[in-house]
Amino acid sequence: MTKKTFLVTGGAGFIGSNLVDALLLANHRVVVLDDLSVGKRANFAHHISNPDFEFIQGSVLDMSVVDRLVAAVDGVYHLAAVVGVTYVVQNPLHGILVNSKGTENVFAAAHKYRRKVLFASTSEIFGKSTQVPFKETDNSVFGPTSVPRWAYALAKALDEQLAFAYYRQEGLPVTVIRYFNAYGPRLDPRGYGSVIARFITQALAGQPLTVYGDGQQTRSFTFVKDSVRGTMAAMDFCRGEGMAFNIGNPEEVTIATLAHHIQQLVNPDLEIVHIPYEQAYGKNFEETRRRLPDVSRAAEILDFRATVPLIEGLQWTISWFKDNC
Ligand code: UDP
Repeated sequence: MTKKTFLVTGGAGFIGSNLVDALLLANHRVVVLDDLSVGKRANFAHHISNPDFEFIQGSVLDMSVVDRLVAAVDGVYHLAAVVGVTYVVQNPLHGILVNSKGTENVFAAAHKYRRKVLFASTSEIFGKSTQVPFKETDNSVFGPTSVPRWAYALAKALDEQLAFAYYRQEGLPVTVIRYFNAYGPRLDPRGYGSVIARFITQALAGQPLTVYGDGQQTRSFTFVKDSVRGTMAAMDFCRGEGMAFNIGNPEEVTIATLAHHIQQLVNPDLEIVHIPYEQAYGKNFEETRRRLPDVSRAAEILDFRATVPLIEGLQWTISWFKDNC
């Protein structure tokens, strides 16, 4: 494979830093742009002396930095975003601005210099749709704009529209991927946007695992090494340009079962408690009851399938939390 230089926005974050590892392993050069608001230096500290790695602390909201960096690379993995339902509910303004204006900057620079962009979107885009499994072409179903939760999905939906508009109108080579609940090493132990991080942190501290609501809501958790493989496949395959792809594992699990798995893997004596949604997220919260990807498009066009089973991925993740948190 020819050596290329990639810009990874958000490369100090959870998925971003795992992607950086894989790109360097594949013998590419990597420039990371991250404002370190959620990302951490520890996530890339092991690359600091690698001549193929460069870190720039800055924001995608800073157009001059984005312009300079995009000009100097072959392609852009745009992962920088404000993520996590809890964080976005508490900080809606920051979430909306970074996720809309920041992406607008990246696309504008990529258009100016004719660079391929891989845009990291989210399965949250399907909202509270009940038509599972979710196909890329299915409807997004959001609640009223008075419900802060949907701000994240709406900003990402606008970003996707912008990506497709640039593709159709200007011929920008851009591919959109939608992550389905990625988890694994380097998840933020504060649990922003990840029930798995929360449960493992609680379990290792000997605290009860807090299942919200009846625990019968489902998610399809994807081990980060799978998410990263799907991400790189989407950059590599030109056939995916102008399209969105679900990057997920079709193994669906209820949150109650997830809590049980983590309890059994860490300490079977741990308590599991149920907490009302209102207590967890405040009033005016809406939930996605089932989230399950249809993975056929990614399999057919990108030749991508997730391979790591949940239990195995949880074992890796728990062991990383034990060593690093
Ligand atoms: N959840 C939970 N206990 C927690 C945190 C989250 O039961 O301590 C639930 C949450 O209500 C949702 C699911 O776990 O149904 C996944 O939540 P997460 O924040 O990981 O992301 P989401 O998929 O909702 O974006």
